[in-house]
Amino acid sequence: MSQNGEQKSLIMIFGATGDLANRKLFPSLYRLFRKGLLSDRFAVIGVARRPLTNEQFQENVKKSVVEAGENAGGIAEFASHFYYHSHDVTDSASYAALKGMAKELDNHYGLGGNRIFYLAMAPEFFGPIALHLKSDGLTDVQGFKRLVIEKPFGHDLESAIELNEQIRTAFSEDEVYRIDHYLGKQMVQNIEVIRFANALFEPLWNNRYISNIQVTSSETLGVEERGRYYETSGALRDMVQNHMLQMVALLAMEPPIKLTTDEIRSEKIRVFRSLRTIEGEEVSNYFVRGQYGAGTLDGKEVPSYRDEPNVDKNSNTETYVAGKLMIDNQRWAGVPFYIRTGKRLGAKSTKIIVQFKDVPMNLYYQPNKPLNPNLLVIHIQPEEGITLHLNAKKAGQGMDATEVKLSFANNAINEMNTPEAYELLLYDCMRGDATNFAHWDEVALSWSFVDKISDAWESTKDESFPNYEPGSRGPAAADELLSKDGFFWWRVRDLKVERC
Ligand code: NAD
Repeated sequence: MSQNGEQKSLIMIFGATGDLANRKLFPSLYRLFRKGLLSDRFAVIGVARRPLTNEQFQENVKKSVVEAGENAGGIAEFASHFYYHSHDVTDSASYAALKGMAKELDNHYGLGGNRIFYLAMAPEFFGPIALHLKSDGLTDVQGFKRLVIEKPFGHDLESAIELNEQIRTAFSEDEVYRIDHYLGKQMVQNIEVIRFANALFEPLWNNRYISNIQVTSSETLGVEERGRYYETSGALRDMVQNHMLQMVALLAMEPPIKLTTDEIRSEKIRVFRSLRTIEGEEVSNYFVRGQYGAGTLDGKEVPSYRDEPNVDKNSNTETYVAGKLMIDNQRWAGVPFYIRTGKRLGAKSTKIIVQFKDVPMNLYYQPNKPLNPNLLVIHIQPEEGITLHLNAKKAGQGMDATEVKLSFANNAINEMNTPEAYELLLYDCMRGDATNFAHWDEVALSWSFVDKISDAWESTKDESFPNYEPGSRGPAAADELLSKDGFFWWRVRDLKVERC
C-alpha cells in the first residue's frame, strides 16, 4: 500500500463480459478510482471467452459505469487502465499468453508483482482456473497474490471440500477471499459496532433480556433467467448457507478481544460450532419450505416457479425458507433465531429485529392492548438505519403508555447498497483485509448444518407446492413456526413495526 492509502495491483477479472463484472465490479472500481483509493498504479485485465479488442473492452467498461448512474468524470483515464484477454479457461497456451500480458503491465505500471485474481464466472470453472493459475505460473510473483471467489462455494460440504482443495494447491487460506456480499453491506458491518460500541446494548445482548431475534431477507423478483442454477440450489443453498447464517453469526458472536481478522473470524466460527444440529424427522419442527405459485404482483401477471424458464414442471425446489436456529451456548440457550428468505414476496427488504423480553410486571396493562416489547430493528436494505422501539407516556391526560420510535437513517438510495458492498470488499481485498470474507471453517460448518436439512427435503417431496402466492408473506406454516413458540413475525412498514 502506498502512504496515502492508494493501492497498487494488477486485477484479473475472469468473466469480464458477464453480468457481475459489468453491473458491480467496474462501477465499484470506478468509485474507488474517483475517491483516490486506486493509485495510477493499477491495471485490470478482463478475461472472457469472447474476442474483444482493448478498445472495445474499455467502451464496455465506460458504458457500465455510466449505466450505474455515476457522473463519469475522469472516465477516459480510468478506462485506459483496462486491458482484455480472450481466454479459454481450460487451455494452458491461453494462460501462457495471459502471463506475458500480466508481466508487461506489471512493468509498465510498476505494480510490484501484486496480483488479484477475481473469479466472476460459473462455479464449475473456479477449481480448474485456480489449478491453471498455479501450473501455468501466474501465481509466481514477487508481490502478493490473492484469489477472490464468488458464491456459490460448492453445492454441499463434499463439493466445497473438493473445490477448497483445488484452490489451496495454489493459494494459502489467507490468500483466499470468499465473497459474501452481505458482509460488504453498510448495515451488516454496523452490527458489530451497534453491539460492541454501546453500553446500552451489550449488557442486554443475551438470553436474560432477549426473547427472540428475527432475520428476514425477502425479494419481489422471481428466479427470472436463473432457473437452471436455481433448480440445483433453492433458497436454502442460495441464501441460508451463506448470507443468512453470516448475519446470525455477527448477531450471536462473543465480543472479539481485538478487531482483527483472526479474532473476529474465530468468534464467528464458534457460533457456527454452537448451532444446534437439525436432522431427519426433526427438520419439520424447525424448518418450513415454500414455492411460489402463479398470480399477480404489482398489477402484473407472474408465472409460478414451475412455469419459469429452465424449471422442471414438477420441481420440488424451494423458493422460500423459514427456520428456527438454536445456538446452544451460555449466552443464547433458549433464544430462537428465526430466519426467513424467499422470492416473489410482498416486499424487497432485508432487516433484523431483536425482540427484548417483556418487563417483569406491566404497570400499564390495559385489556386488549398489550404493551409492545422493546424492539431494535436493523434495516439493511433498501432502507439503511436503526430504529429502537420503546414505550413512553401518551401525550395528554392520564398515564397511558404508547409506542415511540427513535430512528437513525443512513441516506440510502434504493439499489445503491450492493455496488457499495462490492466497492468496500474490493478495497478490503486490495488492502489485504479478509475480515469481511468467509473463512473456510465458516463455509464448511455452514454447509454441514445446511446439508442435513437439504437431505431431509430431498428425500420427501412437498405435496403442498406451490404453497404461497406472489406478493404474499410466504407460506402459512412460517407463521405457525413462531406461533407455536408464542411469537409472531414483526412486519416493518415505512420503518414502523406491526405484529403480523
Ligand atoms: P455471466 O454468465 O453473466 O458471466 C459469465 C462470464 O464468464 C462471461 O464473461 C463469460 O464470457 C465467461 N465465460 C464463460 N465460460 C467461459 C470459458 N469457458 N472461458 C472463458 N470465459 C468464460 O455470470 P455472472 O452473473 O456475471 O456470474 C459470475 C459469478 O458470480 C457466478 O459464480 C455467480 O454465481 C456469481 N454471482 C453473480 C452475481 C450477479 O449479480 N450477477 C451475484 C452474486 C454472485
